[in-house]
Amino acid sequence: MYNRRKFLLSSLAASIGISLPLAGKPIAGSPRIRAGSRPAIISTWNHGLAANAAAWEQLAAGRSVLDAVETGVRVSEADPDVTSVGFGGLPDSSGEVTLDACIMNSAGDAGAVACLKNILHPISVARLVMEETPHVMLVGEGALEFAMRNGFQKANLLTPDARKVWEKWKKTQEAGKPVGSGHDTIGMVALDAGGDLAGACTTSGLSFKLPGRVGDSPIIGAGLYVDNEVGGAAATGVGELVMKTLGSFLVVEMMRTGISPEEACRMALERIAEKIPLKSDMQVGFIAISKAGETAGYGLRKSFEYAVIKEGRNQLLTASALL
Ligand code: ASP
Repeated sequence: MYNRRKFLLSSLAASIGISLPLAGKPIAGSPRIRAGSRPAIISTWNHGLAANAAAWEQLAAGRSVLDAVETGVRVSEADPDVTSVGFGGLPDSSGEVTLDACIMNSAGDAGAVACLKNILHPISVARLVMEETPHVMLVGEGALEFAMRNGFQKANLLTPDARKVWEKWKKTQEAGKPVGSGHDTIGMVALDAGGDLAGACTTSGLSFKLPGRVGDSPIIGAGLYVDNEVGGAAATGVGELVMKTLGSFLVVEMMRTGISPEEACRMALERIAEKIPLKSDMQVGFIAISKAGETAGYGLRKSFEYAVIKEGRNQLLTASALL
């Protein structure tokens, strides 16, 4: 419905020279958008489309690039159909949903939470850690207490559907030998019209992981890295592979040498493939954006998709694959 709010946003967008998002369809075999453009937003997987649209609206409304990425990934966190992030996320092997998230602003400040239970929007707690504490990361009970002291309400994040999937998984498992699988973290990096960057990353982690396991997503430099002079990157997939190579930091540092976001993502995946024995079902995907607004995604294997919005056009792209 074309309501007053949308009308106001469109008028504002037109006056500052950006247009509002149109949902796009997957574009097979179109691995990247190379042209630079400001503003631009990139995020992982197909739920990145809705997240991009919400983030773009923030930029259109004149909000900061940090507001844009926080608002964007909150869409995935609140969506019960996204089974890898926030509400509706698949639990650990004991049936608990535990969340990891981190955020970075254009000044290089960072905040993170890990193994946080019962809070719908871990990304907003991560932002509060960044803005209101001298620390970068809070975990577990301490993170939960901090969130509640700051007005966050406790919520049950295990949906009936997610519980059913967990119960089914449990019946097929050998007791005491849980394995982490299934992933689709949302990582997002945005560049505003003035050339400032921010990023956010949030996940329920690998499904059926060992209780207490934390992946790459809340680790600054692994799941996300932003350097306002160079660009930003985010990761998804088997976090252990990304953590061992500090993948997102590596992508940004590669871009610092002058290579394109696409080359940088591919080189970080090559590093993983060279250094770590890979199992056939292990996937990693990187997304990156340069200071100029050049964007790319790259997967270790086929099947990695990412969403890019530029000039109001929101597209789901299929990434090239290393293997
Ligand atoms: N990277 C995440 C983790 O290992 C999983 C994902 O991408 O969903 O926790």
